[in-house]
Amino acid sequence: MPDYVGNWLECRNRNCGFPIRLPDPELVLKGRRGDKDRAAFLFACPVCLHVNPYNQNHLREVRFRSRDPYQAGRLVLYSVRFGCARPRCSTELSVLTVAAVNVSLAMLLGFWERWKAKLKCTSGHTFRIPVPEVWWIQEEKSLGFSDPPKGPLSRK
Ligand SMILES: [Zn+2]
Ligand SMILES: [Zn+2]
Repeated sequence: MPDYVGNWLECRNRNCGFPIRLPDPELVLKGRRGDKDRAAFLFACPVCLHVNPYNQNHLREVRFRSRDPYQAGRLVLYSVRFGCARPRCSTELSVLTVAAVNVSLAMLLGFWERWKAKLKCTSGHTFRIPVPEVWWIQEEKSLGFSDPPKGPLSRK
């Protein structure tokens, strides 16, 4: 039986710990800051909705029986970008998350707007997530290629 090398990411929320299959690390780490070993990214767990920082060391290489569900078109890696909602704060964050390809963005936003994040802005206060209407949402599809941003979103 053929097997496929892929990556698990385990949710860092200790009450959750859900293992999430991720696409090619190159896609996850592309454009993130930091050197190769410590390239950091923010990831929102699709189960408990906690947003936490991760780096390459959190990715665990595993052999799977099924091929990459991202390449197979069943899962999508999304990146969501927004600025802190506090006045005069210029901190911008980009959060990665995953979803089944057949779940609509409108439905996803119903979950994503409940994201819980304890992240610090450059000036030291807690990052405040803005309303979804100003989020920039992108599908991270393949290397060196991405769709034009879909946001700012209007939900009419
Ligand atoms: Zn979780
Ligand atoms: Zn801020």
